[in-house]
Amino acid sequence: MKLTLDRMCITTNDLCLTCSKKMKSGEASDIDIKVGKVIIHASKQNKELNKITLNKIILTPMGAFLIVNEGDKKRFDRSGFVLLNELSDAIGTDVFIIEKHKKAEKFIENLISPVEPVSISTVFIPPFGEKEIKIQIKKEDQGKLSFPQETLSNIVEELFGVKAHYSYT
Ligand SMILES: [Zn+2]
Repeated sequence: MKLTLDRMCITTNDLCLTCSKKMKSGEASDIDIKVGKVIIHASKQNKELNKITLNKIILTPMGAFLIVNEGDKKRFDRSGFVLLNELSDAIGTDVFIIEKHKKAEKFIENLISPVEPVSISTVFIPPFGEKEIKIQIKKEDQGKLSFPQETLSNIVEELFGVKAHYSYT
């Protein structure tokens, strides 16, 4: 199991220098400790959780997104809604488990699934030609999207350094 802070530091509440630095820089917060404690506790029942890697926790107005390695989502799913509820209770907001991916396109596809985008492309926004990812969605799928554009853009920007927007066709 790899969490956003050391397992030992989370368990003992006694942070080493590296973890303290992460807290001070804002890379991690109390939420990382709370989430870590819940996952460590749940791993006593669900041994599969010992194999997970939690890369990052992204907070949005919609909830906290736990970015895990590819293949880890099913390890969480084994614990069912009980674990998700415990995580939500611990940090006071909804929790989503999302698998990371090297490619932004693939990551976005996973994120907005089951909605299938018509296309995902990089566009350049005038006047400064800033890169942004455009996700083309069929108009009739608009109502099925689980994340508002702002949330999606927050997450994509945190992970890939570019904003993203929906475009309806
Ligand atoms: Zn530590």
